[in-house]
Parts: sequence; structure tokens; C-alpha cells
Amino acid sequence: MGENMSKRLKLVTGSESEMEERSFINPFPDREHREHREQGLSGTPSAAEHSGANEPLDAGGKISDAFQKKVQSKIKDLLQQMEEGLKTADPHDFSTYTGWTGIALLYLQLYRVTQEASHLQRALDYVKRALRNLNGRRVTFLCGDGGPLAVGAVVHHHLKNQTESQECLTKLLQLQRSVLSPDSDIPDELLYGRAGYLYALLYVSKEIGPDAVDETTIAKVVTAILESGKNLSKEEKKEERCPLLYEWHKKQYVGAAHGLAGIYYMLLQPSAKVSQDTLNELLRPSVDYVRHKKFRSGNYPSSLSNETDRLVHWCHGAPGVLHMLIMAHKVFRDEKYLRDAAECGEVIWQRGLLRKGYGLCHGTAGNGYAFLSLYHATQDKKYLYRACKFAEWCLDYGTHGCRIPDRPYSLFEGMAGAIHYLSDVIQPEGSCFPAFEL
Ligand SMILES: [Zn+2]
Repeated sequence: MGENMSKRLKLVTGSESEMEERSFINPFPDREHREHREQGLSGTPSAAEHSGANEPLDAGGKISDAFQKKVQSKIKDLLQQMEEGLKTADPHDFSTYTGWTGIALLYLQLYRVTQEASHLQRALDYVKRALRNLNGRRVTFLCGDGGPLAVGAVVHHHLKNQTESQECLTKLLQLQRSVLSPDSDIPDELLYGRAGYLYALLYVSKEIGPDAVDETTIAKVVTAILESGKNLSKEEKKEERCPLLYEWHKKQYVGAAHGLAGIYYMLLQPSAKVSQDTLNELLRPSVDYVRHKKFRSGNYPSSLSNETDRLVHWCHGAPGVLHMLIMAHKVFRDEKYLRDAAECGEVIWQRGLLRKGYGLCHGTAGNGYAFLSLYHATQDKKYLYRACKFAEWCLDYGTHGCRIPDRPYSLFEGMAGAIHYLSDVIQPEGSCFPAFEL
């Protein structure tokens, strides 16, 4: 028994130190704690009132002017560093994930929040660079030709270059052949698969208008994803428990990047127009199947066969699954989904300041977007506060001794993603995780 005990102890400390290896201990007090503490000290009901310039939210729960200014000046500073760093970036990487389209998307976001024409011009320059480098290998928004074509269509649309915009759209729609072909070996996940092509279509519909992509094309892509999921579920004899099952490289991933959560999230989009019957009969039980894989911590495994509670990333774990849960809550109007999403929020608050860096895919900015989505879903200022605190962490970019990613200035691995997050935090009402949320 003694031996058992010490073994168990070893296991516990082993996993704890591993967790510490993956994330920093969150140094920020939570909002309620801070208020209680200050209430106790000062006897006044509002902590924010006298806590002054260091707090991101003012007494009314709005982003304070001081915080706003701090973030804006950091955005300027980081943009300069990014531009300098991009001079030595791979000239042929056109992707949204690590290449030029991601940078174009950042400038499109800065144009959206500031309305400065120079940002739109930069978006154009970068997306043109991407469009010159298409290789016809993949179709998705994040890693394939779909991204530059969709962003190109949107940038040209903003600039009223209708011919160029239409040209991009036509090419984007031509990619559907390989997505729909029954004997293509394209996967279904977000980074390389059908869901990533579906996102490109839904993105241009949202940004340009519902006529940009015909409904039948969207319906065909949705059907192809549904058929693929039904087939694997049948093969694995899981039709009852999980009627839509997907795998990537022979593994049934759970998270947003390669897994079920990312695919279900796209299918749950109102603009995907999945029928009510399909939502109820196929998607709802599948979402519930993922829900039941939840760890006691509130986190989720990276794949169905993985039992260890390790990763708290947008790509693998709670920060990605949360978006699926919030969408399921919107579609099925069942509070249990929002409760699970709130649990994700707790894990992310505890373990979300990542040693991997500040990016979107597996970094602090990507995890911060979880709080912004929780804030949208609940209007609870606690989540806005947490989002601001993760932004505050990003204000000290590069000082925590994080790992330097391979593409340190890119949208999904590096600095561009953190800038995107910072620009969303100070205008939280319209915030949107790029290349993912709609
Ligand atoms: Zn990742």
C-alpha cells in the first residue's frame, strides 16, 4: 500500500510538473476575488472605481481608456517588429496559417477596427503576394489555396475592384471539384480538409454577401462532410453513440484544428444551413459524444484514444472545444452546453498562459479568444476581464521565456495572431477568432 501511495504521489507530481512545463501559473487575481479583497480593505462597493489605471475595466465594466491606450501603443510597436521580421520570412509561404494570407487577414482586421485606408492597402499587397504563389495542392482556408482566394475576393470587394474580386471567387469555387469527388482522399478537418473549404465559402458569404456563393455549392460541401462522417461512424459501429465520426491520419482527433469539434462547429453554423432533422439526429448526439469525453478538470482529450489531460490549446483541448459548445448552445438552446463551455473557461484561466508562446493555434492569444466568446454568449464581465488579463500577458510579448515558434511573425503561430487578439480585445463586441469564427 505504501508503495502504491508513493507511486500515486509520483504520478500526481509528475503530471503537475508536466502541466507547469506547458503553462505558466496564472499570476492574475480573478475579478471577484479582487473585488472582495478590495471591498474588505476599503469598504467601498466598487473596486474598479479606485483601482485606477492599472485595471482594464472601469467602474461601469467597460474597457478603460488607459488600458485601451496601452494596448493601442503595443499594437503599433508589435506591428513594426512584425514588419521587420517578415523581411526574412519564407517568400513562398502563401498560407493563412503561417504565411502571407495570414498577414493580409491581420491588416483586414486592423482596417475593420480603425477604418484606415492604409491598412486595406497593406492587406491588398500581402494577399497579392499570396495569390502569386498558389500551388493547387490544398483547398482549405488555413493551409490551402482557399484562404488567399477568399481573402483576395474580400479585399478586392472592399476596394470595389469587382472584376478581380469575381476572379478570385470563380477560382475558389473551382476548388470544389476535389472536395466533392467521391474518390478524393481529402480529409474533413479544418486545416487540410472539407470543413476548411466550407469555412472559406461561409467567410466570403459573410463578408461579401449571400449572393457571393450559391447555396447549392454550400449544400453539396455540407453533404460531402456529412456523408463522410456517417460512413466512418458506420464502419466503426458507432452509429448510435456518435453518428458523425471523423479521423485524420488514422486518428480520431477531438479539437478544433484536426478534430470533431472543428468540424461540428462549422456544420452548426446557421449559414451552413444544415436541416433541423440533421442537426437533431446527427449533430446533437455527436456533440454530446464529445461532451462525454470531458476530463474531470473540464478539459478535453486531443483524440478519442488519448486519456491524458495535457493540452489546453485552441488546436487540441478546451479552448477549441469551447467554441463548439457555445455554438451548440445557440443552436439547441440547452444550458448544459453553456455550463460545459464555462468549465472550459475555468481550465483555460488556470492553464491557458502557454509556454509555447502568444499565438492563436497553441498560444495565449488563441486561448484568450475563448473568453471573448464566453463574454459574447453570457455578457458576463468576468470573461471580458479574463480576456483583458490574457491581453495584458501579451503586452509583455517575448519577456516570459516562451518557446520561439518556427514562423515567429505568422498569424497562427506568432506575433500577427497576438496583434489580432489585442485589436479585438479593445473592441470586444465585434471580436472574431480569425479563420475560424464567423
Ligand atoms: Zn496548435
